[in-house]
Amino acid sequence: MPNLKLKVISLVCTLLALSALLLWRVVDGNKTKVDLIIKDAKIFTMNSTGEIINNGWLVVDNGTIRAIESEKFCGNYQADEVIDAQGKTIMPGLINTHSHVGMSSLRNVDNSHKLQEWLKNTSEIEKNFSEEDVYNNSKLGIEEMLRNGITTFNDMYFFPEQTIKAAKEFGIRAMVRIPTMRDETGNLEIDQLFYEKYKHDSLVNFNLAPNPLTEYSLDELRWFSGKAKELNIPIHIHLAEDPSADQEILQTFNLSPLELLKQSGLISNKLIIAHAITFSETEIQELAQYPNVSISFNPKSNYLLSDRTAPIDKFLENDITAGVGTDGTASSGGTLDVLDQIKFASLISRCNSILEFCIDRRQISPYTWIKMATIDGAEALGLGKVIGSLEIGKQADIILIDTKNYDDLVYGSSVNITDVIVDGKVVIHDQISTK
Ligand SMILES: [Zn+2]
Repeated sequence: MPNLKLKVISLVCTLLALSALLLWRVVDGNKTKVDLIIKDAKIFTMNSTGEIINNGWLVVDNGTIRAIESEKFCGNYQADEVIDAQGKTIMPGLINTHSHVGMSSLRNVDNSHKLQEWLKNTSEIEKNFSEEDVYNNSKLGIEEMLRNGITTFNDMYFFPEQTIKAAKEFGIRAMVRIPTMRDETGNLEIDQLFYEKYKHDSLVNFNLAPNPLTEYSLDELRWFSGKAKELNIPIHIHLAEDPSADQEILQTFNLSPLELLKQSGLISNKLIIAHAITFSETEIQELAQYPNVSISFNPKSNYLLSDRTAPIDKFLENDITAGVGTDGTASSGGTLDVLDQIKFASLISRCNSILEFCIDRRQISPYTWIKMATIDGAEALGLGKVIGSLEIGKQADIILIDTKNYDDLVYGSSVNITDVIVDGKVVIHDQISTK
């Protein structure tokens, strides 16, 4: 009898095991195959409600975010690549809204002079840069940005094709200027071959960058405005960087920076103004009438070259979109790290009311700073529907960090960015580049 009992138990166990296996196969068969799953993460979505999901799962397929689920997620997806993010936070990749990566070798080359002299000193070196120099400098800058969680950068420099070449090697999303030149009659034209070559590249975006503005006539700036509208791309300019720069605008055009924007038509474009330091409160209110106008807030460069930065609280009060930029490494304090810029700006003037440019940054919450570095930066570049937040259908530009709240991210001494994903591809895993 005991033998029979054992045989029955054994048979029942075998049947149960077979059923479980069968059941697993059925479920397994129903699972949807995807490229990547990130599981058990805290998720800063940076969506319109600022939603945070605990123990969340994020599913990526074909470069886009396919699903974002809370802990109730039952695992309807199967991926070859699964990242266990337990104990970590995932958030959208950071966006650098103003850079010159082609000059990255000039790190801290001149921290002693103000804007005009600094420009003279750096341009003396830059005029000897070859295409290969710009390529190597771009690699230097792009690698640094990726390691600091930046997945998109908006650049302004010469030899942009070399920057694209470097960007593609590292897999970062780039926005670069389309070269412009004058034809034999002196009329401006874009580099059509360059434009055609990259216009369908999903990781390459364009801007038009008349720089310096004083090299062009008012009519030529109107041409830039028209061409950017025709191509549906933003204009990227330096403006209102300090009183000496304003003086140059006045001497060349007999106009203030704001009047120049209005009379050239640039103000009606999708426009990214880097610096925007010297605008008065009234001028900021006027800029706010133009919903396509954004600024790139570049605090370290501004303090190094101009002893002050943009009145960011006033821009935010007036609902003007502001992203965070670094400028080049020659003026940014030697870094292309967006979080470093935020930390500097958020701390520097919490009690400097004795200074005329005092900004009460206590009014700017850590969440707002991070919003500027992600979705607002994307909006500034005209890419708000594509990147900048973690939402279904957006491109999968994602970073994994070991920080659990916005305060630590903004004020903390160091943030470990362990993984960086651009367009659904893991380009840094466990702090090691996959490229
Ligand atoms: Zn700049």
